[in-house]
Amino acid sequence: MRLRCRRCNAPIGLDDFVYIAYHAHTLGANRVEVHFQCGRCGHRGERMLRQADWDELMLSYLENDERSVEEWMATEQLGPITAEEIRAVRRALRSENLLESLRAWERARNEEQLE
Ligand SMILES: [Zn+2]
Repeated sequence: MRLRCRRCNAPIGLDDFVYIAYHAHTLGANRVEVHFQCGRCGHRGERMLRQADWDELMLSYLENDERSVEEWMATEQLGPITAEEIRAVRRALRSENLLESLRAWERARNEEQLE
């Protein structure tokens, strides 16, 4: 699973996302809506991804990205990230050993909400 710009065919990276929304579906046909702006040519695109494609995409990004999940989640250009989106990312990461930073981030977030 790779996202590419429809105009110039450049690969779309984590930093190119401008909006992510998770659409839960009762029958399990969850969809993830992503909007992105090509880092090379500036062309804007959007896609509606199946859950499995999203998981695969996130895994490929995080395997190739030196930043921690925490750093990526804190990126301000993304819209508000919901609990569902966090769960989606966590599912994608379950087979990896990258979970510790995400757990720490979630703990910090939960503590904030309790105050
Ligand atoms: Zn482009």
